[in-house]
Amino acid sequence: MFIAVEDLKKNYYTGKSKTEVLKGVSLGLEKGQTGVILGPSGSGKSTLMNIIGGVDLADSGSICVDGLELAALNDDQLTDYRRDSVGFIFQFYNLVPNLTVMENIEVVSNISKAPLDMNEVLKAVGLETKKKKFPRELSGGEQQRVAIARAIVKNPKLLLCDEPTGALDYETSRSVLSLLQKINRDLGTTILMITHNAAIGEMANVVYKVRSGEIVETIRNEETTAAERIEW
Ligand code: ADP
Ligand code: MG
Repeated sequence: MFIAVEDLKKNYYTGKSKTEVLKGVSLGLEKGQTGVILGPSGSGKSTLMNIIGGVDLADSGSICVDGLELAALNDDQLTDYRRDSVGFIFQFYNLVPNLTVMENIEVVSNISKAPLDMNEVLKAVGLETKKKKFPRELSGGEQQRVAIARAIVKNPKLLLCDEPTGALDYETSRSVLSLLQKINRDLGTTILMITHNAAIGEMANVVYKVRSGEIVETIRNEETTAAERIEW
């Protein structure tokens, strides 16, 4: 398994009250696959994804990504893992407002080590004519494409997308999702995506249904290949 999560537990404590956010989550995803975490707001999806991405820590359980046991890494190794192996995409893009498209991609992604050609990436995300624009001059869909370019220019093994279409209209969502499918197909990037939209589950190899910190159902669509799955 490329991602192997076993019996992951996480609690938050506020004052005297304890919130059990993850109550023993286990999941597996093969290299090159797309996994979708589907569940209502507050069910622990972002916490799970942040732990897999090495930006939050579990209380117990094990997380293994491409043979790396995250709990066994020291701080420097965890920083390397986050920087070199993981690309993050969020609902609200998280672009730097006073930097251009090009600068947002270069600066934030530490491009000196980027293995992908910047112009190829800009072309792939459809932004080759917008590289000198500022975020405020772009539509929501275009801003999300900048965020996607920033995440993939370092050619991460794993792309973690937290409600990437949550702020977009239907048509724009479709085009962003088809861009993510293209990245999965062309670069072989393993994608784990959070959504509360069940229709998005159709583009996944595996759907994990989450309720109140537990995976209540795992649906595998492995008989279909990426090309056969729903065209967005
Ligand atoms: P989702 O992404 O499914 O909406 P989250 O993982 O963001 O869910 O949150 C799950 C639960 O954990 C929620 O009840 C939320 O309020 C709580 N939570 C998340 N982060 C924190 C935090 N830093 N401190 C306390 N509670 C938190
Ligand atoms: Mg969330």
